[in-house]
Amino acid sequence: MIITPKYFKDKLPKALTMSYDDGPYEDYRLVELFNKYKIKGTFHLNSRYMDRDDYPPQPEKIKMTDAKKLYEGHEISVHTVNHADLRDVNNLRFLHEVLDDKKALEDIAGYPVRGMSYPYGYYNDEVVQRLRYLDMEYARTTKSHKSFYLPDDFLVWHPTCHHNDATDLISAFDSPRWNMGMNLFYVWGHSYEFERWGDKWYIIEEFCKRISGREDIWYATNIEIKDYVDAVRNLKFTVDTSMVYNPSCTDVWLDVDREPVKVAAGQLTKLK
Ligand SMILES: [Zn+2]
Repeated sequence: MIITPKYFKDKLPKALTMSYDDGPYEDYRLVELFNKYKIKGTFHLNSRYMDRDDYPPQPEKIKMTDAKKLYEGHEISVHTVNHADLRDVNNLRFLHEVLDDKKALEDIAGYPVRGMSYPYGYYNDEVVQRLRYLDMEYARTTKSHKSFYLPDDFLVWHPTCHHNDATDLISAFDSPRWNMGMNLFYVWGHSYEFERWGDKWYIIEEFCKRISGREDIWYATNIEIKDYVDAVRNLKFTVDTSMVYNPSCTDVWLDVDREPVKVAAGQLTKLK
């Protein structure tokens, strides 16, 4: 019996997630686009720059009071309070940058904010270790790998590509080479890149148009991907793999001898 984790939620073989940094006002247009095409995104925000009463206003940023409504149906995520290079701060400042951003964002989001992206993409082993102590659940880098594998460690989550390269990679995503396991297309960028140096919205519009509406893709936020992969990785098999217990609250799909098998949440499933 050959058992392979080959499916995402609802037996979908592929997934797409989008990841956007800094909360610029161009996020309004980007979110509208994602909503039109039913694509899900995660937005990594710096609470210091969101026009709070106790800080100088930042008119080019999304306002704190508007963030909940704007990002509804997507995910709000940490990008540190001050967009800090986390390699370069002491412990106290590190705690402030991460936890105070998380707290401020949770106050507006109304749910636990569980992940982040690294400001400037900067990180090192010590930064990763400190984040692990703080129970941060994922952190996105800016190191594109131009492929579709899942991260071993979600605190070093390399994306597939920057949005400028995304449309060109759709054919690779659809090639037989990427039909074996759980394949994730993970795109990152900043929405201001589409606006501030000439009109480049066609880049993301083209990508959304071509990748949306497909019945083989799960459109999910970063944390939804992480939660599902955690559920898969946390399945408990008997030694002979004839039975599997799913302790999570998420239904998981496995490929068993080339047939999809549902391993329901909280249930013991016999595989033969
Ligand atoms: Zn940033």
